[in-house]
Amino acid sequence: MSVRVVARIRPLLEKELDKDVIVRADGVEPGKHSTVVKIPNPKNEAEEFSFAFNGVYDQATSQEALFTAEGSPAPFHGTALSSFFPRLITRRSVQPLLKPLFQGYDVTIFAYGVTGTGKTHTMRGGLKLADRGVIPRLLSGVFRRGKKIMKDTEGDTTVRVTLSYYEIYNDKVYDLLEPPEKRTPSGLPLRAEANGRTVVAGLSERACGDLKDFEKMYIEANNNRVTAATKLNAHSSRSHAILRVKLTQTTGATVRESTASAIDLAGSEDNRRTDNDKERLVESAAINKSLFVLSQCIDAIGRGDKRIPYRESKMTRILSLGQNKGITVMILNLAPLRSYHLDTLSSLNVSSRAKRIEVREIENEVVFKQVPRTNSGSGTTTARQPLRP
Ligand code: ADP
Ligand code: MG
Repeated sequence: MSVRVVARIRPLLEKELDKDVIVRADGVEPGKHSTVVKIPNPKNEAEEFSFAFNGVYDQATSQEALFTAEGSPAPFHGTALSSFFPRLITRRSVQPLLKPLFQGYDVTIFAYGVTGTGKTHTMRGGLKLADRGVIPRLLSGVFRRGKKIMKDTEGDTTVRVTLSYYEIYNDKVYDLLEPPEKRTPSGLPLRAEANGRTVVAGLSERACGDLKDFEKMYIEANNNRVTAATKLNAHSSRSHAILRVKLTQTTGATVRESTASAIDLAGSEDNRRTDNDKERLVESAAINKSLFVLSQCIDAIGRGDKRIPYRESKMTRILSLGQNKGITVMILNLAPLRSYHLDTLSSLNVSSRAKRIEVREIENEVVFKQVPRTNSGSGTTTARQPLRP
């Protein structure tokens, strides 16, 4: 398993234009990619801390650029040399995950950060084409590639896409593809499978034939998330939302199954300084614990440890983080404002451990998984048809 961590600094909102900006991407000059975030030491403003990442996307980075990671000018860009050095032109982030996903690797993309820093914007984005976030772009790429494979193999290989979407709130799992009325307070149970994976029992899976299908489902599910949170007098930023895209490629008797998971995490703000009524404290404890375990897992994977503490929270357990072969990308969302100073520092501290991470390139490896048919998920509907041509 390999991990990369990138940081994205959001632009100022209209109402923030007069506010103090203290976070910047270092070295954003023509021909250079930034990999460093700078922020003042709150105890001594003359001093600046630096945090290194696999890539840093500044305020001007568009949704498209973040997805394709071809945002800022790179060495040799637009020159004859560019075809010889394609690697140098792309700061690879999300789109390049499509290839390993189709090769059978599991990919996981997290958005981590304080509430208001752009996690939902990054993952979901807006409805306009240019505003679309990582998730609809990823799905669009999956459908396009899937159709191409079916066409190129003249139907010998079929590609099916099924979706699950759920949230983890107070360490309980709720299906977002089901209306909130159908929720039981205790949430859905987890079940360990013979192959060592943990699955959510009773989670629905829906077949998805194209981007239109997906968007309809996704909008409805996100409405479910908001309605459910409102009922609890909570906010949807207090839960982790996990979209799981299961890809099944079948050629004769060989079935290759892989999943892409996209997670809009609960806000990482320091909850000691916010509300402290009882409900919120319970929420905070659950969020803090799961984010802590997540960072420990990312850390351990980055160090190449044998033992990844993924069993210690529901989220990391369900994602089998560290257990399966795959690629994990964490997008650290940052707001550049002074009002976020301490929270920004704390999330930089958590994520920047990744600077020790040597990115292990794996894209030339091919894995064929002979997947035994299990009754995992036992959901409402399962895909039987391949993608529509
Ligand atoms: P979070 O999910 O982390 O709480 P949001 O995604 O809701 O944060 O972002 C907070 C606000 O900032 C929203 O109004 C969002 O539209 C805006 N925003 C975040 N990132 C960007 C960006 N890159 N470009 C433009 N607006 C953004
Ligand atoms: Mg959000």
